Amino acid sequence: MNKFEQLGLNEQLLKAITDMGFESPSEVQEKAIPVLLANDTDMVALAQTGTGKTAAFGFPMIQKIDVNSRTTQGLILSPTRELCLQIANELKLYSKYLPNINVVAIYGGASITDQAKQVKRGAQIVVATPGRMKDMISRNMVDISKIEYCVLDEADEMLNMGFYEDINEILSHAPKEKSTWLFSATMPREVATIAKKFMKNPQEVTVGAKNAATSNVQHEYYVVGGRDRYLALKRLADTNPDIFSVIFCRTKRDTQKVAEKLIEDGYNAGALHGDLSQNQRDMVMKSFRSKQIQMLVATDVAARGIDVDDVTHVINYQLPDEIETYTHRSGRTGRAGKSGISMVIVTKSELRKIGAIERIIQQKFEAKKVPSAEEICEIQLYHLASKIKNTEVNKEVEHYLPAINDVFDGIDREELIKKMVSVEFGRFAEYYKKAGDINVSANSSSRDQDFSGGEGKVRYFINVGSRDGYDWMVLKDFLREQLQLGQDDIFKVDVKESFSFFNTDANHTEAILAFFTDFKLDGRFVNVEVSKNSRENSRGRGGRSGGGGDRKRSRRSDSGSSKSFGEKRFGKKGGKGNNSGGNNNGGNRRSKKRF
Ligand code: ADP
Ligand code: MG
Repeated sequence: MNKFEQLGLNEQLLKAITDMGFESPSEVQEKAIPVLLANDTDMVALAQTGTGKTAAFGFPMIQKIDVNSRTTQGLILSPTRELCLQIANELKLYSKYLPNINVVAIYGGASITDQAKQVKRGAQIVVATPGRMKDMISRNMVDISKIEYCVLDEADEMLNMGFYEDINEILSHAPKEKSTWLFSATMPREVATIAKKFMKNPQEVTVGAKNAATSNVQHEYYVVGGRDRYLALKRLADTNPDIFSVIFCRTKRDTQKVAEKLIEDGYNAGALHGDLSQNQRDMVMKSFRSKQIQMLVATDVAARGIDVDDVTHVINYQLPDEIETYTHRSGRTGRAGKSGISMVIVTKSELRKIGAIERIIQQKFEAKKVPSAEEICEIQLYHLASKIKNTEVNKEVEHYLPAINDVFDGIDREELIKKMVSVEFGRFAEYYKKAGDINVSANSSSRDQDFSGGEGKVRYFINVGSRDGYDWMVLKDFLREQLQLGQDDIFKVDVKESFSFFNTDANHTEAILAFFTDFKLDGRFVNVEVSKNSRENSRGRGGRSGGGGDRKRSRRSDSGSSKSFGEKRFGKKGGKGNNSGGNNNGGNRRSKKRF
């Protein structure tokens, strides 16, 4: 019997679940669903972002609804229009085999009369933002006097956004006798207060530590001078050619400015903030979802609705004013069982905030250095080489081959490769040629753990990456297991699409290189080499002397192939097939998309 069946879900839901490809329930689903199905009870469920809370309340609600009645029986309140739409769409997928169920989304920025019409046609489930809901109740466009189930989804966010009064008002129109289910990622005092106010003896479901950030997110910080934030951001992006990220700024103005600069510098970036029209915001989100935008620069408020699963990096361009907000930011990555990285660009004077955040998220940050120009160039070069290797040959090229062969006549393979790579890489190398070190020494005794190589540390290159199913955690586990090393022996693991880097102390180097001579995984050679930038030169600190290289803008966009480093990297990421070695290494490779 499949694990979803054991939860007590009915035939139609099970069929839909199979169609969606969910293999087993997530923890919050496993804990909440049977309770909600079996009882009419209130519930407070706390689980991190991306753990499948929508289904945890959606499945039971759908199963409990009387499909033969057209009365509105379920109300789901959610903080943003984006989330409303997302929840409504998920519920529609869940109820695919229950054609009589009608789910209607109600939110601001769209025609209220259209929404009222949809409700009138008979919506058993209404998913709404508090603002629009209140509005429609006051105009008698929706009747919630007979609801039996009420969900407060992302309750912490709703309160953050100041919806307390609205929720209060809305619920005064709902019957006393109903079940209220509150779902939240964190449990600040305000949430506890509404739980008390609106619920009777709620059952509690907690997944992970209260208020803890997602544990498959790695937290890193980079100390730079205040004026070097943008340069640091660029370098972080350049070291991660496959980045798909949300970048947080404190103000709308900075958000707009950073996005504009990135675009000017040839990145696939976009801005999301409250000064944009709803239409503009929709366009930006659409481009982001389809990965045409790789770097979405956003304010905290605007980013609340972002629920995109594959975000690889969250970058805190500036720390939020309220450090609690950090949890929400970092929760935008590491969703749906994947791992993610949350990076913070800080100045020396802000360093103490890192400690405060660590206490809130109950996780340690890693102090990292903004990569050097050499390191970035190395990564870009490997990336380019593997991109060329993995490019599918365009059929039309055949036609021109004879003429092209003539052009290359007399040039041997090695020479040709060098030239080809140089075409793309030249501009890049030029840009970084004179770029100096922008790291600022943290100095202050408390936070001086610097993992960035230096004396006695060695950095390695390994020819496996995310397309082989690795992320930093999986690769670290894999290496530790293979090399029989301890928890902290492998560090600075950076996984790119088709290759990765990691560090160890120098005393392991010989053994590691010996181990990987002739090492095969599923018939494929796994190659480990000492990276060219292994011995990171510890240049003069605060060395902004050479910063001119960064400043002198060599636009990547100036040759017409502006997106050469960014374009379509995501488009055809068919890499999953090459899942080499999944079985050999003790199952520590997590299966994709499954909880
Ligand atoms: P949360 O509300 O906790 O942030 P969501 O409900 O939005 O998380 O779910 C995150 C993602 O995980 C969605 O894409 C959803 O379709 C997917 N998902 C939910 N449950 C499962 C499951 N049991 N197996 C695989 N994927 C799931
Ligand atoms: Mg959710």
